[in-house]
Amino acid sequence: MLYFKYMNDGTFSNEATILWSAIRHGIQREILTAVFCAKCMTSVRIINFRGSPLKNGDLHLKGSCAVCGEDVARVLETSEIVYQNN
Ligand SMILES: [Zn+2]
Repeated sequence: MLYFKYMNDGTFSNEATILWSAIRHGIQREILTAVFCAKCMTSVRIINFRGSPLKNGDLHLKGSCAVCGEDVARVLETSEIVYQNN
């Protein structure tokens, strides 16, 4: 049920949903719990994030640090997504 909790934290555009769903659930969880926060100076969990595709096909995640609430973001390269899906 953890996966659903993580999924429900985020909002994705249709295109971003396709990119995101290509990633294994285990990898999704790793990604969402390893976003660098400049304020905490460490990797944190991202919450209330939005996923949107970039022009080059990469997936951009933008949200808040689960610890301090600071804005955090992470870009997932398309090549990274494809590699992890194999
Ligand atoms: Zn933080």
